[in-house]
Amino acid sequence: MIRLEKIVKRYGEVEALGLVDLEIRPGESLGIFGHNGSGKTTLLRILVGLSRPSSGTLLFDGSPQRGANGTTYPGKESWRAFHRRLGFMPERIAFHENLTGEQTLAHFARLRGAPRRQALEMLERVGLGEAAKRKLGGYSKGMLQRVNLAQALLGDPRVLILDEPLEGLDPHGVRLFFELLETAGFLGSCPEEGGERTLVVASHRLLKLSDAARRICILSAGKVRALGTAEELRRDAELPVRLIIHPRTDCNGAIESALGELSPASVERDGERLVASVSQAQKMTFISQLNGLGDAILDLRIKEPTLEEVYFEME
Ligand code: ADP
Repeated sequence: MIRLEKIVKRYGEVEALGLVDLEIRPGESLGIFGHNGSGKTTLLRILVGLSRPSSGTLLFDGSPQRGANGTTYPGKESWRAFHRRLGFMPERIAFHENLTGEQTLAHFARLRGAPRRQALEMLERVGLGEAAKRKLGGYSKGMLQRVNLAQALLGDPRVLILDEPLEGLDPHGVRLFFELLETAGFLGSCPEEGGERTLVVASHRLLKLSDAARRICILSAGKVRALGTAEELRRDAELPVRLIIHPRTDCNGAIESALGELSPASVERDGERLVASVSQAQKMTFISQLNGLGDAILDLRIKEPTLEEVYFEME
């Protein structure tokens, strides 16, 4: 369990994080969503110990230590134990251009206390086996991003923290990324592999993030605006569901009057289709009523609000 309480981070006049409360549960996958400048990197850097909060509490397994300015902070031993279990993929990482992929990963394996053979194994897993003997100076942006992910996965981490891992990846790379997380046991639980694995992933790509993370934390201007599963966020935003109805041409009137009786929030015409906006609570009543109209309806599609719409509703 990692817990942040009333975390504030200031850079001079800029308040990058303002009173962030957040709990990261063992074995969960948590997505941190926010636009550029919302505080995601600052939050992750605090989580991995690269930056200290200006005030507030950060706790994880192990005894906390009292710091200056009202900060409670894990002690050295707690950090050491945490770092042994941690894989971190920073947003930017400076690799040595003259080293090959394999040499680079061998260097990270040494730092992580992982066996050297993992260097090549990991490059193969991220699809860079063939490029292992080439210098990083000749790698594309997407290839470097794969090296970055490979170094984070070295040493079989139990906690994986990723900052914008999808940047620079083509659709192939994105698919491979999800497959890798899955096989490494970070998507869904994998108890037979020996324990829980925790994933924290920050991204400004909300839809992709919701594929990787069960809970989503929405950050905006350094504050947590919402926290919950995609379903919970949708429900709390109370946005309407759209029912897109394709009536048989001679049944338009019947359907419009059936809809009218149930008083939807609105009904609009879109070419041959009728689009009824209804509340979540009304949804099933509408669907069963429309179902009762039988072959007067050629097609019915249900459009739930997207997470993007939920986000813009919060702003
Ligand atoms: P994100 O990762 O969501 O893009 P960041 O955490 O990088 O957001 O930045 C949050 C805010 O803090 C921004 O206003 C940014 O300019 C500021 N900031 C981040 N790091 C520094 C720094 N080292 N010095 C000054 N300001 C910073």
